[in-house]
Amino acid sequence: MLELTLNKTHDESRQGEAFAPKQILKNPFAKKFYIESYGCAMNFADSEVVASILQKQGFGITAKFEDADMIFINTCSIREKAEATVRKRLTEFRKMKKHNPGLLVGVLGCMAERLKSKFLEEEKLVDIVVGPDAYRSLPTLIEEAESGQKGVNVLLSREETYGDISPIRLNSNGVTAFVSIMRGCNNMCSFCVVPFTRGRERSRDAASVVKECTDLFNEGYREVTLLGQNVDSYQWVNSANNSVISFANLLEKVAQISPLLRVRFSTSHPKDITDEVLFTMGKYGNICKNIHLPVQSGSSRILQKMNRTYTREWYLSKVNRIREVLPGCGISTDVITGFCTETEEDHRETLSLMEYCEYDLAYMFFYSERAGTLAARRFTDDVPEEIKKRRLQEVVALHRIQSLRSMQKEIGKTVKVLIEGNSKKSDGHWSGRSDTNKVVVFPKNETIQKGDYADVVIENCTAGTLIGKLKI
Ligand code: SAM
Ligand code: SF4
Repeated sequence: MLELTLNKTHDESRQGEAFAPKQILKNPFAKKFYIESYGCAMNFADSEVVASILQKQGFGITAKFEDADMIFINTCSIREKAEATVRKRLTEFRKMKKHNPGLLVGVLGCMAERLKSKFLEEEKLVDIVVGPDAYRSLPTLIEEAESGQKGVNVLLSREETYGDISPIRLNSNGVTAFVSIMRGCNNMCSFCVVPFTRGRERSRDAASVVKECTDLFNEGYREVTLLGQNVDSYQWVNSANNSVISFANLLEKVAQISPLLRVRFSTSHPKDITDEVLFTMGKYGNICKNIHLPVQSGSSRILQKMNRTYTREWYLSKVNRIREVLPGCGISTDVITGFCTETEEDHRETLSLMEYCEYDLAYMFFYSERAGTLAARRFTDDVPEEIKKRRLQEVVALHRIQSLRSMQKEIGKTVKVLIEGNSKKSDGHWSGRSDTNKVVVFPKNETIQKGDYADVVIENCTAGTLIGKLKI
């Protein structure tokens, strides 16, 4: 599957990442667990919640699966490829049981419900299966599995938000962190499995979100990304005074923690993003001017089939409004090629919409039918794979040109960069991101450190990176 990456919400380089503590703790624990995570940022954030629950129960984290007494894979089922990867990994872990019969292997997250009988009963690949709303029951399920039973809980909840759990930040650069503000999704995009794997939408207590962000800031973090499948429908009612907190209200509260704390968010649904959110973004310099606004298709006919509940014209009017209220705001998107019945003309409409929007960043996928979705039940997956892939190649090629152009526009400008760490290619350079989410590298000097802000003059670029020097 082709995807263009470098977007923090679905970072291809992090797929299969093993969980490692920020600092390697001396491990006083009797039993150790290892977690490998796949999928979107939300899944990675969930692994941090799981780590917190397990550590409270006296289990220690290890970054090496060879040292673990329990191995967990936090799974994603959004596309077929992710499932195949997890199956392969589980088969490898299963083999380790020959030498270590006490080893427990568990599947967490989105694949749990769908594959519980297959992995657990038929293929006997795993001992524990836990859905995304049942992580609190993990310690009990581990006990059950240790006594030889199968530990299963895939129940979805209408209330669970894990709001009271402080995630353990692992594999962290100590500067940027993800914070979940809601779970599940009430939209029924016909291609999407999320409403079935992650359940109904629920918003997390606003006070707990603000507390988590404040704690992160006090620990030295300088950027939070508020996560939800549809952040604009965030709504939390304070039962003490019946006041309603909208997403714009929450964004403002988090922005007010400190002007030194950058705030990002993802994902915005084109049908729900409001002027109130755009005005709040404009009001605070520390809310990054970047919006992830997935379009999926440029054809109104296909959008209707996808049940996205907006048209091409509606989407374009939202893009125009963003540019009017927030000139220079970065816009990124998701595109699917080859959805059921998509014609060449529909495909050209996607290309022409992309030409108009000039996205800074895009995730691009070809359609992969998921069992149980509305599309799988109602439509025929009738676009041949080679056509889906050829259209994807065309979308990717156009985006490459556009993203290079969007980078080139920055040359000569001075951008404010939050330093996240060493550049991947050279320890002599810092790497960070601009307000509009572009990666920037520049030579180090002793006066600034990781977690600092730097004004950088952009001198050059590649399709993925701006290259500059410190402004003197
Ligand atoms: N909530 C977000 C939204 O409304 O756009 C997206 C969530 S989904 C986890 C991330 C992206 O995966 C989607 O925007 C879509 O482009 C892609 N995706 C979801 N289901 C897919 C499928 N069946 N085949 C291909 N791509 C899919
Ligand atoms: Fe899936 Fe649509 Fe919900 Fe996004 S908004 S998670 S694409 S159902």
